[in-house]
Amino acid sequence: MNHNDSLSNKKPATRFIHAGAEPDPTTGAIMTPIYQTSTYVQAAPAQHKGYEYARSQNPTRTALESALAVIENGKFGLAFSSGVAATDAVIKLLSPGDEVIAASDMYGGTYRLFTKVFEKFGIKFKYVDTTNPANITAALTDKSKLIWIETPTNPLMNITDIAAVAAISKKAGTILCVDNTFASPYLQNPLDLGADIVMHSSTKYLGGHSDVIQGALIMNDASLREQLYFIQKSCGAVPGPFDCFLVLRGIKTLHVRMKQHCENGIVIANYLRNHPKVDKVYWCGFTDHHNHDIAKKQMKGFGGMLSFTLKDASVEAATKVLSSTILFSLAESLGGVESLINHPATMTHASIPREERIKNGLTDGLIRLSVGIEDADDLVEDLKQAIG
Ligand SMILES: *Cc1c(COP(=O)(O)O)cnc(C)c1O
Repeated sequence: MNHNDSLSNKKPATRFIHAGAEPDPTTGAIMTPIYQTSTYVQAAPAQHKGYEYARSQNPTRTALESALAVIENGKFGLAFSSGVAATDAVIKLLSPGDEVIAASDMYGGTYRLFTKVFEKFGIKFKYVDTTNPANITAALTDKSKLIWIETPTNPLMNITDIAAVAAISKKAGTILCVDNTFASPYLQNPLDLGADIVMHSSTKYLGGHSDVIQGALIMNDASLREQLYFIQKSCGAVPGPFDCFLVLRGIKTLHVRMKQHCENGIVIANYLRNHPKVDKVYWCGFTDHHNHDIAKKQMKGFGGMLSFTLKDASVEAATKVLSSTILFSLAESLGGVESLINHPATMTHASIPREERIKNGLTDGLIRLSVGIEDADDLVEDLKQAIG
């Protein structure tokens, strides 16, 4: 039995550590070597060991791709040079005239890719509030080919019911792709809920150490895998072997990191909610969050991402907090072991026009936190001195 198949009935901690880990056939090395090569020597023309040219196949990437499949309960994984490269590959399944129904509240770079790159190739994007799945049904036409959702969303922590959207998608014959970056495979597995493709920015929780840019797609359908693999090798947005090694290594500790992100997230969310200068806290773990019940149903925990606004809604007040934290570093990105603080309006989401942002509730004063796995008391202390 292949190592990966024997993992299917194991618990997450075991799967995350053993996923994709076959001893190296030539030496027995327990860690997959970094195959830093561009090509492979053939015994005779077209007589090779399954590896011809490293854009198409690389053993370090193969190990990572099989690990990605294991951790998302999927059959196939594909690794890309970034999260947006993975998204780009999914959109390239489509043809001019096809329509995509996408969430109105999602990662700014996804919105930019859709509107600024793919619209001019004749693909039409309709943005709807997917927290109410009826809005998706209303937007469907006979040209709809793909539904793109993100849950929880970046940065407003809105929740979409994946199983409900999957049922709509199945009935309509569309492909459902879920950006699972914020939850990570430890907290949520969209394929189990009926999604066709799961997308990750592996840059975030999968890598987990803020030291790599990478993306992933995971799926069960063999023909979808063939089409996406064809796009991966034809368009060439593949990650290098060292980056694959880093993500493979990150995955081994995903479960312990996520447990701590969740614990610290609870502490910080409650601290902020009780702070007299804080207005709103966006975190799906609160029982009065509008889709808390769905979050509870489809997630194992609520993660380390949250956003908040101050009662003083001015950009100046937010800027003061953003510039005063010491442990929370002011930076884009998320999901690393160290805590980050970010101003979506001018940083991660600056590519979304202001009126679009405001319409969706992403105000100028919104502050986003990626709560790391440092000591929770120290993190609270840091926010206390920054908010004042
Ligand atoms: C970061 C991010 C992306 C894009 O991934 P990159 O690795 O930066 O290309 C997509 N979706 C979400 C939710 C993200 O946070």
